[in-house]
Amino acid sequence: SVVAERILQRRSLDMRNRQQDWQESSEGQKMQEFRRSLPAYKEKEALLHAISRNQVVVVSGETGCGKTTQLPQYILESETEASCGAFCSIICTQPRRISAMAVAERVAAERGENLGDSVGYKVRLEGMKGRDTRLLFCTTGILLRRLLVDRNLQGVTHVIVDEIHERGMNEDFLLIVLKDLLPRRPELRLVLMSATLNAELFSSYFGGAPMIHIPGFTYPVRSHFLENILETIGYRLTPYNQIDNYGQDKMWKMQKQALRKRKTQIASAVEDALDAADFKKYSPRTRESLSCWNPDSIGFNLIEHVLCHICQRERPGAILVFMTGWDDINALKDQLEAHPLLGDPSRVLLLACHGSMASSEQKLIFNKPEGAVRKIVLATNMAETSITINDVVFVVDCGKAKETSYDALNNTPCLLPTWISQAAARQRRGRAGRVQPGECYHLYPRCVHDAFSDYQLPELLRTPLQSLCLQIKSLKLGSISEFLSKALQPPELLSVQNAIEYLKIIGALDEDENLTMLGKNLSMLPVEPKLGKMLILGSIFNCLGPILTVVAGLSVRDPFLMPFDKKDLAESAKAQFSAREFSDHLALVRAFEGWKEAEKEQSGYEYCWRNFLSAQTLKAIDSLRKQFFHLLKDIGLVDDIESCNQWSHDQHLIRAVICAGLFPGICSIVNKEKSVSLKTMEDGLVLLHSLLDPKLDISSHDDLLSVVRFLVSQDQCEGRFVFGRQMPTSLQKAKIGEQTGTLSVGGGHNSKSQLQTLLARAGHQPPMYKTKQ
Ligand code: ADP
Ligand code: MG
Repeated sequence: SVVAERILQRRSLDMRNRQQDWQESSEGQKMQEFRRSLPAYKEKEALLHAISRNQVVVVSGETGCGKTTQLPQYILESETEASCGAFCSIICTQPRRISAMAVAERVAAERGENLGDSVGYKVRLEGMKGRDTRLLFCTTGILLRRLLVDRNLQGVTHVIVDEIHERGMNEDFLLIVLKDLLPRRPELRLVLMSATLNAELFSSYFGGAPMIHIPGFTYPVRSHFLENILETIGYRLTPYNQIDNYGQDKMWKMQKQALRKRKTQIASAVEDALDAADFKKYSPRTRESLSCWNPDSIGFNLIEHVLCHICQRERPGAILVFMTGWDDINALKDQLEAHPLLGDPSRVLLLACHGSMASSEQKLIFNKPEGAVRKIVLATNMAETSITINDVVFVVDCGKAKETSYDALNNTPCLLPTWISQAAARQRRGRAGRVQPGECYHLYPRCVHDAFSDYQLPELLRTPLQSLCLQIKSLKLGSISEFLSKALQPPELLSVQNAIEYLKIIGALDEDENLTMLGKNLSMLPVEPKLGKMLILGSIFNCLGPILTVVAGLSVRDPFLMPFDKKDLAESAKAQFSAREFSDHLALVRAFEGWKEAEKEQSGYEYCWRNFLSAQTLKAIDSLRKQFFHLLKDIGLVDDIESCNQWSHDQHLIRAVICAGLFPGICSIVNKEKSVSLKTMEDGLVLLHSLLDPKLDISSHDDLLSVVRFLVSQDQCEGRFVFGRQMPTSLQKAKIGEQTGTLSVGGGHNSKSQLQTLLARAGHQPPMYKTKQ
């Protein structure tokens, strides 16, 4: 072991020499200079001092001041400088995969090293980490997973939890576990980092831990709310002189028409937005339902106009547009690319910022474009805090973000565009003032902004706790409700009880709240229990292929595109896939399989185009499928691709596995002669959630039946419903895959808006039910 130690010392010496060379190179010098220019650098000594004297330190500072990239490096440098080869092992968690990867890459580059030398990363099913890695960026989930096998984090010297202000479920969970761990590991150091200033909350949670604020400098940002935007942009719509900018005669005519059309479109978008102006008067309940009202109303055309306005009238500077999600970003990007000005690559560099960005794309986002080209970046709320684009001068804020929400009463999660908080709006605004005074265009009236909540509700208080409960159990952290009561802001008891009850019903916990075999397996799968159960059953029953597609599809996003101007066409394209099986899930399977076939013949894109499918999403599903397969193989549930697909052609079996996964969120439609009823095994009565549509009272059984009748007549029986009550427990014996259809409950994925569309199309008077033969 003396020899081993020598070798280790030698290696670290080599590495240090290499680093010195880099630091002396001109590139290295420039990088050093940049690093020293960051606000965090001035606080370096104070930070290191506080960390050495206290077990827990809370660090806050304006986004971009150098918390994420610098602080872990300061610790690394001070530890390695302190004494030759002093050992340190720093783990820095990030809420998102992309930030863990991007930050690791950036930090390695700042140090002139390869990724995987002293700096590495690890995210779900992927990583880059070597023997000499001392600073590891990982997702919060990865650290939790490590705690599963290594309760005391043996060998780790520093844990840095980044972006704690986001209050994700995993982060809140991690804090409880770490708080528990600290007394057992007195030499372990914990640093909490946050962008906005609610540091007191975290400090007092850790018994008054010292807080260090990194003062940053941002330029003032002027806010424009919808009222002002209309004044500046709305009026400029009418005079055609603006069109001269586009030149040519023919273009002029087309533009005139387009502008007219757009003007009416814009008017309706504005009307929608102004409808929301009465926002403040609504009760919290209605406000909640308003929050999922008309996701299209962020108004692509309005955004287009604002962007045009900036490009034509304003000074140079990049534009950052906050959108709700990837689908929106793609759709908007398509629209803008068709625009004569915004789609002209010699004048505008249009970029989308997303989770699976290649690093070449990333560089484009961070770099200043050449010459007079204006950079426009379309991003989700990820660009609020975890990444910083320096040259942004203009921010366009749609006011919404996708958020998983959960109501303890109906026990169904859904991912919906929701109004952001005032803190988030402030954060978005702040992005415009990095290099010079900026402008922020909020696409909603000021009164809507004033009605935003101060902070976003922590995820722990708004999402189902099922996966979390499994983790608590597999980490052997004792009673679930007792453990969760120690959270920073503990969830409602009802939500906790619901989750425990659910896990008992699906057989993951026994009566005494102990993990069953199923529960153990589920806790090893990084998906919701219902999806995990599908994977496990799919492996056991050797029909894994289609199940992998379903689960991957449900965990990525729906690959079926619904462009709002071609909704009917898109829906009929989708219906082709589900016509035979009456199932959304199986439609996904068929669409995916069709795509794989088309890919073989190099016609994947054409296939997607024809069928309103997103090639990008299908690719993501494909890669996730592979990852799930390897995971199942690692756990020992499957051997090889052939044997686990022996029964993959058996539609009945597949439906059974899907239903078993969704259980108890299912019920059966019973067709009798001319009547149809919706039955659960015990009480047979199913209520639709009244929140489905505040204007329609569809809470009565009869109303529900008319919906069901309509759906059945449309051959759409699966994946369409959200129910008001949790299903009773005794559905295990429900016959599945027979002529009686199956309805799944919850699952988000637009069920609400789909149902609303269906209801609207049915004119609320669904056609008579036709008995299917
Ligand atoms: P914080 O965590 O405080 O928000 P960061 O440490 O992420 O700040 O970033 C500090 C600075 O480093 C930012 O101003 C940003 O400009 C720069 N930076 C970070 N990542 C990159 C990157 N991948 N490419 C170029 N510059 C980057
Ligand atoms: Mg950061």
